[in-house]
Amino acid sequence: MHNILIAPRKYVQGRGALAEAGKHLKILGNKPLVLWDATVKGIVGKTLLAGLAEEGLEPVDVDFQGDCTRKEVDRVIGIIKNTGADIAVGVGGGKTLDTAKAAAIETGIRIVTCPTIASNDSPTSAASVWYDDDGNFTGFDCWPFNPDLVLVDSLVISRAPVRALVAGMGDALATWVEAKVALQTGAGNIAGGVSTAAAMAIAELGYEVLLEHGLEAKRAVENGVLTPSVEKVIEANILHSGLGFESGGLATAHMIANCLPSFGECRHLMHGEEVGFGVISQLCLDKAVSMDEVYEAVDFEVAVGLPVTFKDIGLEGVSRDRLKSIGDTCASDGSLCESHCFKVTSEAVVDAMIAADALGAERKELAGIV
Ligand SMILES: [Zn+2]
Repeated sequence: MHNILIAPRKYVQGRGALAEAGKHLKILGNKPLVLWDATVKGIVGKTLLAGLAEEGLEPVDVDFQGDCTRKEVDRVIGIIKNTGADIAVGVGGGKTLDTAKAAAIETGIRIVTCPTIASNDSPTSAASVWYDDDGNFTGFDCWPFNPDLVLVDSLVISRAPVRALVAGMGDALATWVEAKVALQTGAGNIAGGVSTAAAMAIAELGYEVLLEHGLEAKRAVENGVLTPSVEKVIEANILHSGLGFESGGLATAHMIANCLPSFGECRHLMHGEEVGFGVISQLCLDKAVSMDEVYEAVDFEVAVGLPVTFKDIGLEGVSRDRLKSIGDTCASDGSLCESHCFKVTSEAVVDAMIAADALGAERKELAGIV
């Protein structure tokens, strides 16, 4: 397998970046289809539409129906064909962005993602996560191309709920922890190769940025301000984590996170929160990590308020029997847990989750957080 790195063609981040959307989009086409929901349009609609009009672009305004489903992507494809739109612009959260990516790839037009929250690392990636009509996760597709442009207005993101930024830190924290594991075994990345030194350096940088600026960024956003720490964490959550996960590799943290939505009690969680618990579980499973590394990660998560116990993820008192379903999925053929340099068994995963819960509870108590 060769070393492969994939990335978007352009990444733009800054205060008020959306106002300059027209300047960046006119290089790509003339007729952008803008996909967003009413809430997002209410927040950024005026600024974005004015920016497009300034450059003489003719937007096609499309109301997103709420989930990245086959039906919704087909609907957007129909609109692209009827209107002759030549750029699909997803504005909002991961589901909107993933829908725009899928519709653009399948019609051969340009892709632009404008995340309005930094809760996960989807905006730079070539992947779309699929849901069925009832909102259940059904899998994901990796497209042959990444977005042509990722446009991140940090002012918009700093004014979004702080919970989303913290969830993004959970997804980003996992990137380095998982990429390191995949590197040891030469496990394949989503790009269809193995990781490069560049992808590893980016993944590690994201981890360091979070440890240094994560708590400060959270405090700033809670106080409604956009500071250099917030900018750095937005970059870590979206760019470092996006490139790092896609061109690095995934492992148990994401495998556990992907299993949690099958528990009804976990439905309220954001993806990055599920990954946050997955990271601690993976660290408790991995023989190669030092306790310093484990404490560093768990204490960071406790400090920023990521979930580290069963209680935090809605599973207080969960039985070993129920956890076995997660263990079995993790230990199945083709699982992301195959990235580890040792065989991951169902029992070991269940033990690791129980150990993570106990560790999380103790570190929270030590930090004076109930
Ligand atoms: Zn993720």
